[in-house]
Amino acid sequence: MDDFSYQKPSTLGDAVEAFSAADDGVYLAGGQTILPVMKLGLAAPEEVIDLNGIEELQAITASDSVISIGAMATHATVAASEDVKQPLPALASLAGIIGDPQVRNRGTIGGSIANNDPAADYPAALLALGATITTDKRQIAADDFFLEIFETALEDGEIITKVDFPVPDAAAYMKFANPASRFALVGVFVARTGNSVRVAVTGAGPCVFRVGDMEAALEKDFSAAALDGITVPTDDLNADIHASAEYRGHLIGVLAKRAVEVAKENGDGQ
Ligand SMILES: Cc1cc2nc3c(=O)[nH]c(=O)nc-3n(C[C@H](O)[C@H](O)[C@H](O)COP(=O)(O)OP(=O)(O)OC[C@H]3O[C@@H](n4cnc5c(N)ncnc54)[C@H](O)[C@@H]3O)c2cc1C
Repeated sequence: MDDFSYQKPSTLGDAVEAFSAADDGVYLAGGQTILPVMKLGLAAPEEVIDLNGIEELQAITASDSVISIGAMATHATVAASEDVKQPLPALASLAGIIGDPQVRNRGTIGGSIANNDPAADYPAALLALGATITTDKRQIAADDFFLEIFETALEDGEIITKVDFPVPDAAAYMKFANPASRFALVGVFVARTGNSVRVAVTGAGPCVFRVGDMEAALEKDFSAAALDGITVPTDDLNADIHASAEYRGHLIGVLAKRAVEVAKENGDGQ
């Protein structure tokens, strides 16, 4: 790893200022991605700006209709939070199956979505739930945030401060995990709010995406059977040593059905 300077500001303003002043700065959350990337020499920032000293990025709050999760909340904190578990168990359980205990205790929601790994779990939740990402500059709808593999709508130096999740009537997340890394080979998040249904898929393609045909069928009939015969074209799906595009396509259908069943079991009031 190349030499770098390190600083740990205690306010958002100081962090933004430090980034602007640096020739080549990078923010550090839990370091679960950025540190291995630096160790491998794939990034060599001159200035590492640690966000762990900024208290306002840690908070989790909940009202009847919205859960707000600070960007620096770790996956373990989200999984254990009563403010998340009670109104939106699907989100708490998603956080609880990310990686392993070490990753969950260091990795953060802000770092995960800023990184936008195509196999990360949170992007599916944000897209299916219609979340809003707040930064130091603006608010961005999840629909506009995830652009392509490892690309988001964030501008250089922009800091995610929190993510707001509207509480749905029913929701569930099903993931077929890579047994080595626990990243999603395919993950499907289904959320129903009133008559509106959103289905978001991670792991299967270069970037998280919604499945309009499934959403339309589930809006007419929120049951697993409603998804019979609906397939996702495999042309743009990932194919690698872990699974073919066809296998991933098949998993989307299987996991979407399971997610609907679990969402129905969990019932209204989620
Ligand atoms: C072994 C292993 C297994 C994993 N398994 C899974 C899995 O099953 N599912 C899954 O979803 N993920 C998984 N991950 C990813 C992990 O959950 C982290 O969320 C992810 O690596 C980001 O890490 P971090 O939060 O520590 O961010 P960092 O590594 O500190 O930062 C990542 C990037 O985001 C930027 N950044 C961080 N915070 C902010 C912010 N607030 N605003 C703007 N930019 C910011 C940084 O500058 C950097 O570019 C795994 C990681 C490892 C190492």
